[in-house]
Amino acid sequence: MDELELLLDLHVKGERQGPGSTEATLRALEMITLPSEKELKVADMGCGTGAQSLVLAGQLTGQVTAVDLFPAFLDELTKKAKEMGLSEKIVTCQQSMDDLPFRKEQFDLIWSEGAIYTIGFEEGIRQWKEYLKVGGYLAVSEVTWVSSSRPKEIVEFWSREYPEIGTAATKINQLEANGYTLVGYFFLSPQSWLSNYYKPLQERFPAFLTRHKHSELAKKVVAAHQQEINLYERHQAHYSYGFYIARKDAR
Ligand code: SAM
Repeated sequence: MDELELLLDLHVKGERQGPGSTEATLRALEMITLPSEKELKVADMGCGTGAQSLVLAGQLTGQVTAVDLFPAFLDELTKKAKEMGLSEKIVTCQQSMDDLPFRKEQFDLIWSEGAIYTIGFEEGIRQWKEYLKVGGYLAVSEVTWVSSSRPKEIVEFWSREYPEIGTAATKINQLEANGYTLVGYFFLSPQSWLSNYYKPLQERFPAFLTRHKHSELAKKVVAAHQQEINLYERHQAHYSYGFYIARKDAR
């Protein structure tokens, strides 16, 4: 198995593949005013195994198109949707989020939690606007600085991993510069990181290592995740995910 296959294997049985919570998904959804009687068209970009797609499908009338690059995640989502009686409301789309087969102004709502970084926040909001109806909503979570001065260790880490990390003011300015009006934003709680993502991930490490006979590559994958967790534990006062909810303007 190569490193990508190992990563998929480590994450595919996770309830979520990044920090978040059902409460945060619902809180973001509450900020959005969409006609409840209408059949809505919703896209969830970088859906993983569907933590948010399933919540959205359960809450909204209409259809959720769940987009991810990896079939293994989408298969898992399809299985969960079936178990929850939501199959009719979710279609999967195995495609890269920067190369999408969608029509202009196809969607009432574009959702994306912890995934836009793969193409970059500004590039993502710019490209996806095309698929959103005027007056439609974007709800996106993105790693964000929450303090005004930060230790060198964490600045260096994020400059390597995702130099586009910024403050909420920067993200909001980017939304406004790209034809959106901010409706609201909030930060994910530490529980969204620790209890909902990192702890279940750590609990999967031993079985993952056993499955892969403690190979050097499997150990490297675990070590990289553990380093990320250690950094979060040390520096959580300085960054989180910002959840940004915005409406597409008429221009
Ligand atoms: N939204 C899910 C959640 O919160 O549980 C998953 C978040 S995970 C951190 C990022 C997701 O983006 C993964 O499922 C990954 O497969 C997907 N992804 C990465 N690059 C992608 C791309 N270019 N196009 C579509 N999905 C991509």
